[in-house]
Amino acid sequence: MTSAASSLPDVAVVGTGIAGLAAALALARKGLRVELLGPRKPLPAPEADAYDPRVYALSPASRGMLAQLGIWEALPAERITGVRTMDIRGDHAASGRRPGRLGLSAWQAGSDYLAWIVESRELERVLRQAVQWSGIRWTDDTLAAFAPAPAGGGLALSTASGQTLRARLAVAADGADSRLREMAGLAVARTPYDATGVVVHLDAGLPHQECACQWFTQDGILALLPMPDTAAGHQVSMVWSMPRGQARALLELPEAEQAAVLEHRLAQATAGRLGALRVRSPLLGFPLALQHSPLLAHRGVVLVGDAAHLVHPLAGQGLNLGLGDVAALAEVLGGREPFRAVDDERLLRRYARARAEPLMAMRIVTDGLFHLFGAPAAPVGWLRNAGLDVVDKLPLLKRLLVNGAAGA
Ligand SMILES: Cc1cc2nc3c(=O)[nH]c(=O)nc-3n(C[C@H](O)[C@H](O)[C@H](O)COP(=O)(O)OP(=O)(O)OC[C@H]3O[C@@H](n4cnc5c(N)ncnc54)[C@H](O)[C@@H]3O)c2cc1C
Repeated sequence: MTSAASSLPDVAVVGTGIAGLAAALALARKGLRVELLGPRKPLPAPEADAYDPRVYALSPASRGMLAQLGIWEALPAERITGVRTMDIRGDHAASGRRPGRLGLSAWQAGSDYLAWIVESRELERVLRQAVQWSGIRWTDDTLAAFAPAPAGGGLALSTASGQTLRARLAVAADGADSRLREMAGLAVARTPYDATGVVVHLDAGLPHQECACQWFTQDGILALLPMPDTAAGHQVSMVWSMPRGQARALLELPEAEQAAVLEHRLAQATAGRLGALRVRSPLLGFPLALQHSPLLAHRGVVLVGDAAHLVHPLAGQGLNLGLGDVAALAEVLGGREPFRAVDDERLLRRYARARAEPLMAMRIVTDGLFHLFGAPAAPVGWLRNAGLDVVDKLPLLKRLLVNGAAGA
């Protein structure tokens, strides 16, 4: 090894979302020399009763991983809500019969909670602080070009403002449209869903009782996630995966009309399960797609998070998968034999093997559920309802679903 090579940082993490920040931190904790490249957009200061529209249902596995990094304990406990039960229902309108129903609870998984609802920006805030305290150098810029450096020089990453970073290994955590993945020639298979994830926080007339409610309806899949109470009363966060045309029509309405239309549709879909629901934040829409990369690592570039995969949010598992990638990568690189460099192809294959099964399983489950119960065209109402009733009566299948919901 040349002296230039030995002074190289081990890893450059590209992308400063949650997967990138967690990767930088987890790899640094394994004793690797880490550089971080990505924009550092300012985060609004926390404010009582003002919640980030992006929230995640984090699984026990993700919580455990964040706890190991010292992140979980640093999150503001009063802004986190545990999910003890899930109440999944079909729709009555489509079938003219009693809606199908499936109940999952934490005790069936032998734990206190199935998941925890956490705001994206609070998680980012704490991860950023930890990255700073760890002394990881953060280049506030974007990746513009990437090339293997001349012999022994590792990889050269050029930024939009003309800086160059070098490292042995580059971790692509730059999201679903990853530039690094593209520049490294790693292929991706993408199938857009004819659906948009519409997200908003709602005041609820009734308490959520730590229950996440979900409806599989002919107008898509509606989820109401429990959130902390506010001065206005009870609060839930809505993720409604609705047909793209319906979402566009809703999102293009003037604000006041938008709220009235959505509240009316919510009243119909939920049949008063959480009392009257009132819009309390601006609506946001996210295009949904199924995406996967057959090769997770190649020639010194490794994919994690949305750069590696996208799944339908009906099971709230996208970020959980990303944190699983980070944990697996840290495990493989941290546990490598002393004679192996971090960019050793054999190590990268170990990482790809470790992630192959969980990623495929989640792809199949979420895509299967979407097409079986959630796609507007596919299911007839009675099948959607009967299917949920059947699953509710099958203890083995139910246990599988509970463990899936808990990310176990
Ligand atoms: C409606 C909806 C609801 C969801 N709910 C859940 C849930 O309940 N639970 C769950 O686990 N997941 C959920 N997800 C999935 C979750 O949002 C994503 O999986 C997660 O945010 C991905 O994080 P990431 O860090 O991989 O990517 P991103 O958040 O996309 O971050 C990518 C980062 O890379 C940076 N970047 C981009 N280009 C460059 C470049 N050229 N150079 C440097 N940096 C760059 C960006 O600025 C950004 O900081 C949901 C998704 C949707 C759409």
